[in-house]
Amino acid sequence: MPKSTSVMHCTSMPRSLTPDSPMLRGGLVTLLRWRETPGRPIVEASPGIARRLGLVVEPTGEWSVGLDDLLDPADRRSLGETIAAFDPEIAEAIELEELRMQGPSGKALWVHMTLALLEEPTGAILCTAVAVDVTARHEVEHELREKSQRLELVIDGTRLGTWDWNPQTGAVVFNERWAEMLGHAKSEIRDELVEWESRVHPDDLADCYADIQAHIEGRVPFYENIHRMRHKEGHWVYILDRGKIVERDAEGRPVRFTGTHTDITEQKLAEIRATEATRAKSMFLATMSHEIRTPMNGIVGLLQVLEGTNLDRRQREVLDLIRQSGDHLLVLIDDILDLSKIEAGKLRLDQQPFRLDEVVHVVSSLYAERAAEKGIAFRCVATSSESGWVLADAHRIQQVLCNLVSNAIKFTEMGHVRMDVRHESVGDEAWLVATVEDTGKGIEDVDLIWETFRQGDASTSRNHGGSGLGLSISRSLAELMDGTIEVESELGEGSTFRLRVPAPSCAAPVRRRDAGGSERNGSTPPKLRVLVAEDNAINRSVAEGVFARLGMTPTFAMDGAEAIEACHNDEFDLVLMDVHMPKVDGLEAARAIVDELGDNAPRIVALTADVVGLSRQDCIDAGMDGFLEKPFRMEALLALLRETEEHSSRVA
Ligand code: ADP
Repeated sequence: MPKSTSVMHCTSMPRSLTPDSPMLRGGLVTLLRWRETPGRPIVEASPGIARRLGLVVEPTGEWSVGLDDLLDPADRRSLGETIAAFDPEIAEAIELEELRMQGPSGKALWVHMTLALLEEPTGAILCTAVAVDVTARHEVEHELREKSQRLELVIDGTRLGTWDWNPQTGAVVFNERWAEMLGHAKSEIRDELVEWESRVHPDDLADCYADIQAHIEGRVPFYENIHRMRHKEGHWVYILDRGKIVERDAEGRPVRFTGTHTDITEQKLAEIRATEATRAKSMFLATMSHEIRTPMNGIVGLLQVLEGTNLDRRQREVLDLIRQSGDHLLVLIDDILDLSKIEAGKLRLDQQPFRLDEVVHVVSSLYAERAAEKGIAFRCVATSSESGWVLADAHRIQQVLCNLVSNAIKFTEMGHVRMDVRHESVGDEAWLVATVEDTGKGIEDVDLIWETFRQGDASTSRNHGGSGLGLSISRSLAELMDGTIEVESELGEGSTFRLRVPAPSCAAPVRRRDAGGSERNGSTPPKLRVLVAEDNAINRSVAEGVFARLGMTPTFAMDGAEAIEACHNDEFDLVLMDVHMPKVDGLEAARAIVDELGDNAPRIVALTADVVGLSRQDCIDAGMDGFLEKPFRMEALLALLRETEEHSSRVA
């Protein structure tokens, strides 16, 4: 039989059928009678089949075509074989499941045929067939078969593993590729969920189930999860697992959940390598900028010492230029350091209570002179919270504000720059909202300025200096603080930057040792007694020179052990403690001093160039009062000394 036909025997053939029988009039069931001789001449055809195939009776009384003209050669042959093999002892009729016929009208007709044979007196065989038109069913089945074949080809081509899971019974059907991804043959994998579950990395399984649950509960339209699965050879394979519930029962429980597995190990490993490379690069940059800061401390510090000596006008001018270049270099180093810390995920926030108006005051005093030099009106307003104190990272907020104000002044030639910082409460949340507005040149493309190293135009660095890092760092800092930074700008009109960061109100901090009664003797010292613990000889001479300019002579300790001993033997108001020192480091020394002297311990301030590994919190935890970055400036040192003097007079 041809591929499209199949045979079975049946016992009920209506022998009395004629082409005019009422049941044949509708055309769906038709009658065809032919003689099983060469060409299979048609003897009778009911109107339905004749019409559909375009068969006509010639004037000679014969039909225009024989049955063989309607069949393709394979079907012709196999029909003959079937008829020849027919045994009337076994059955009365032959049944042909699907037979294709194509007449002169051109349209193919698929029929289910029940065929009865009658031997004529001449010995010829007369075949009578009842044919039911099954073309529509055949086409639907054909289309379905094609679709499923197409799907199989796609799955095969995309190398997808597939799974078909019944969450109620736990039964899963995996395809061959699913097993192959894990180094197994399909025959080694049972149709059970445990085959998947037992291979998922233990650290990833909870997330998988959470994602599955989210889809089952309808919280997400699809299930998607990336997890590791154990390969037969023992290594881990990264799998992108996607799926969807395609059927639920009457109670809404999923009964069919189907999906695919994609092996994304290569991409994932490349991603991990790239992240590690970025981290390594960032750490290298961070270490380098830290290393550069240390000698810079010597240069900037010694310049400050030189400034205090007798110099003529020319020398002073040269010194001023060197100082400006040093300052510029320090800003650059700081920016690169920040950027690398951010990229390496090493930048830690330091949330401490602070006053908004103080931060605004610092920014305002840093830039007032520059604005005045350019003839720009510069106004800063702070609207504080009720207590005046908020909890956030003051240093980072100040850094962003400095960047915004510095840019505003840099890119404004006339008009004004205004900074407005307010504390806003919205429901339970409190925000610090700062706007920096200028009437400067404006920004052509506000989306580009946030990119690292991107400057507004090529002439920017020539005319205004800058590295193109400031805004990229500012945005990263804002995001790190769970806040946002945005800009609105119009060319030639000016720009307005807006920073928003969460900043809850808080009470004024209680300073360590302010609360407890002090047993320290003596009144406000005319000069503070300062101990500088520093192992580096250049840094010691910087400190010596800087203090000499203030008319002070500090005591020096070469390492942590000497600092502990000095505090044991003498009284100090302030210890400037280098953190990285041989033998006993600064943190350890601070801990030992506070442990021994308790409330009588001096104020200890960390002095460090390591702004990568060390945070302010590390210093506080070691019992210190603060953190002074190297190279420190005269103003920062003066502020610290003034604060210490006030503190000493309070506790005295
Ligand atoms: P830098 O100022 O060091 O070049 P930034 O990241 O701070 O780097 O700024 C990137 C660019 O954004 C600047 O080069 C400048 O073109 C543009 N820009 C930033 N602020 C302003 C402003 N207030 N007015 C005009 N252009 C600005």
